[in-house]
Amino acid sequence: VTEVRLASRPVGRPTLDDFSIAEVEVPGPGPGEILVRNVEMSVDPYMRGRMSAAKSYIAPFEVGKVMDGGAVGVVLESTVDGFEPGDHVLHGFGWRSHAVLPAKKAHKVDPEAAPLGAYLGVLGMPGLTAYSGLFRVAEFKEGDTVFVSGAAGAVGSVVGQLAKLRGAKRVIGSAGSAEKVRHLLDDLGFDAAFNYKDGPVAEQLKAAAPEGIDVYFDNVGGEHLEAAIASANVHARFTICGMISVYNATEPPAAPRNLAQVIGKRLTIKGHLVGDHYDLQSQFLAEVAPLVKQGRLRYEETVVEGLENAPQAFIDLLDGGNTGKMLVRL
Ligand code: NDP
Repeated sequence: VTEVRLASRPVGRPTLDDFSIAEVEVPGPGPGEILVRNVEMSVDPYMRGRMSAAKSYIAPFEVGKVMDGGAVGVVLESTVDGFEPGDHVLHGFGWRSHAVLPAKKAHKVDPEAAPLGAYLGVLGMPGLTAYSGLFRVAEFKEGDTVFVSGAAGAVGSVVGQLAKLRGAKRVIGSAGSAEKVRHLLDDLGFDAAFNYKDGPVAEQLKAAAPEGIDVYFDNVGGEHLEAAIASANVHARFTICGMISVYNATEPPAAPRNLAQVIGKRLTIKGHLVGDHYDLQSQFLAEVAPLVKQGRLRYEETVVEGLENAPQAFIDLLDGGNTGKMLVRL
């Protein structure tokens, strides 16, 4: 059994030396447990936070210990009624080839209903993050102009498409390459998109949203957040979902510098954690799974083969190497 461990806490951008690969023995499942062979693993930006020692909403990884994360696997052995060998399960014991885990921490998924990777992306945690962050936290309503950063990623791509499907007036996305901008415009139906590396975000956003924005779904923070405040209409609502531009930072961000505008514009700026919104899970699946099946909500995956390549996949995710959901296939 192979597992990926945190070898050291990264300072700034992680390197391969911050990870190690180890072989370990795994016992058979005890009472209430199942043995799972992992098939697909989720690679997520929030893991960068867990690699640091800083106190957060989720405990840090321990140096020298296996990392974990979302995964889908197949049950090999079970001591629990309702879990049979061959069943597919979604669970949080990824970053290893096999896992023994309590059955009550596993959720059965149907490989016939959707490809396994979808349970880690569009129909999984990132999809629910988008759904709850847009509809509940930002209180999106028909006719809103929506700006989403990180728009070509797992969360952002769902935000933009859901806004369009629910009658947004205009949806604008930003991403980090010309190809991603093309993807947003041609494949995902965004009304406008720009490459934030091409010039100041504030200028590019103003050009893309001449009448201002009503909702900003923030995946990036920093200069993007400052630009969104500058382009916000009165009573605009912001969902602060992620700030990936600062996850590797060793110094405090220089932006936003224009927070005083929150007053005059009466902005609502709310932090968002998907963990607060699992009560929406069945509503989310009932609405989004058919849209995916009908091809009305599209999703991309960037799949890296092999557990030993998971550290590089994580580094690539932070560098923008993915379009849509970043997955490791074992
Ligand atoms: P993505 O699939 O969006 O992958 C991350 C992307 O971030 C990269 O592809 C890259 O795209 C972009 N990026 C990296 N560095 C920068 C930068 N300096 N400036 C702008 N963009 C950058 O990941 P997810 O969809 O899984 O997550 C998106 C965001 O949502 C993250 O911030 C994450 O932490 C957050 N999140 C929050 C949750 C919550 O409950 N609050 C739950 C899930 C995710 P590009 O090429 O465009 O630069």
